[in-house]
Amino acid sequence: MSAAGCDRSDLCAELSGATDTEFHATYPDGPLSRELTMTPTAAAVVDLSPMMAGHCLLLPRHHFLSIAETLEDRSVEFASFLQSFTSKYGQIFGEYVLVEHGSTHGMNRSACVSHAHLHAVPLRAELILDEMTRDGLVFRDLAGWSDVGRLASGDLPYYLVAGASQVSVCVGPQRMQSQYFRIVVGRVLGISEGECDWSVVIRRGLLAETIERWHFESYCTPY
Ligand SMILES: [Zn+2]
Ligand SMILES: [Zn+2]
Repeated sequence: MSAAGCDRSDLCAELSGATDTEFHATYPDGPLSRELTMTPTAAAVVDLSPMMAGHCLLLPRHHFLSIAETLEDRSVEFASFLQSFTSKYGQIFGEYVLVEHGSTHGMNRSACVSHAHLHAVPLRAELILDEMTRDGLVFRDLAGWSDVGRLASGDLPYYLVAGASQVSVCVGPQRMQSQYFRIVVGRVLGISEGECDWSVVIRRGLLAETIERWHFESYCTPY
């Protein structure tokens, strides 16, 4: 497992419709899919073991290693996908933060666990930034998402933390702890580190609740 990986998801297979995946093995009794929305090039799925209701992953359907690489490829139109997804997400779950623990070509190349993804959780971005800063990570603000694509050329691992109106990055952190993002969210929510491990505690009820709320709002909210 790559240091930056957050679960064993075989996302490429899952997004192309395979049913012998980590998701199906973890949820043998359903639901059949954890997808919230899908375009020809991007998708949003609920995290395999959500830390809280609303915890989901935003990702390109093609196998990129980072969101920086994804944004650099204009054919994916990931920036506009982000915009439309987050506007609905904010209406349903309220204030949110998007986080990436980006991998690079220098890290675990073969595992699909390094499939580029952003985590979305309904927490204030400052809470996450404060925790990570306390851990010694140094963030700087970018002008916006258009600047994120430029990180791809550096081929350095990075952390990205974004709210509705700000994007911050920490490029080349000293080390990237396994499941670090989950641990940070756990600290904010008062969940002990051991219980943040997705393979130890799987919060199946939160996955179901996230799917329900997303689709319920779809019927009730003009969008
Ligand atoms: Zn992750
Ligand atoms: Zn993949």
